[in-house]
Amino acid sequence: MKKLLAFVLCLAMVFSFAACGGEKDPAASEAPKAVLKMATNAYFQPYEYYEGDKIIGIDAEIAAAIADKLGMELKIEDMEFDSIITAVQEGSVDFGMAGMTVREDRLEKVDFTTSYANGKQVVIVKENSAITDVEDLFADGATWKAGVQLGTTGDIYATGDLGEDRVTQYNNANNAVLALIAGDVDCVVIDNEPAKALVNANEGLKILEATYADEDYAICVKKGNTDLLNKINAAIDALVEDGTIDTIIAKYIK
Ligand code: GLN
Repeated sequence: MKKLLAFVLCLAMVFSFAACGGEKDPAASEAPKAVLKMATNAYFQPYEYYEGDKIIGIDAEIAAAIADKLGMELKIEDMEFDSIITAVQEGSVDFGMAGMTVREDRLEKVDFTTSYANGKQVVIVKENSAITDVEDLFADGATWKAGVQLGTTGDIYATGDLGEDRVTQYNNANNAVLALIAGDVDCVVIDNEPAKALVNANEGLKILEATYADEDYAICVKKGNTDLLNKINAAIDALVEDGTIDTIIAKYIK
């Protein structure tokens, strides 16, 4: 009798286990996704900017698509542009994505993925500015002052071409444009698409026709993190191939 009872009990246990295993409870069975941390500077429309308290834009959407391909959960950390490379080097984030131009000097500090977009540096002036061409900035005896975002290529070029005394560095694009409006600087050297957004959002500004410089944007990862670099590159390739990146860019750049 005891043996039979034990047998029945065993059987009951086996069945209840089987029943448990067969149940589809996604919350219980799905392991939490690993977090993929991105550093950006979210004052750079249309690549990254706030809509309410959410960071949206070309980079934010491409990053989300990459994280999705990697089966990871994207977390975006907003910081000053100038802090992004350091954060990547220190490993407090997994990658930096901020309309970031691939440059030799940056390649000494971080590794860059395949480029996912092109950019160019342009010059914003007031509508009635005496500066009518980018060349005016470099003319002999010119004293025009430029505003830039600290640590950007606009900063690097303007500081190199005009000299430190004629360049003021701001923490983000908005502050540089506010300084232009206030008359603290005569122009702002910045990437083309953010320049368009800033000119649209503020009255009395225009973009000079000539391009200051052409650039390629890419994602940066910690130097030597070839595992992540290869994974992101494979994701970018796939997202280029299936048209996702073009679709995202076309959504934000008409
Ligand atoms: N493309 C520029 C750079 O890489 C500016 C990027 C930015 O301000 N987010 O320096």
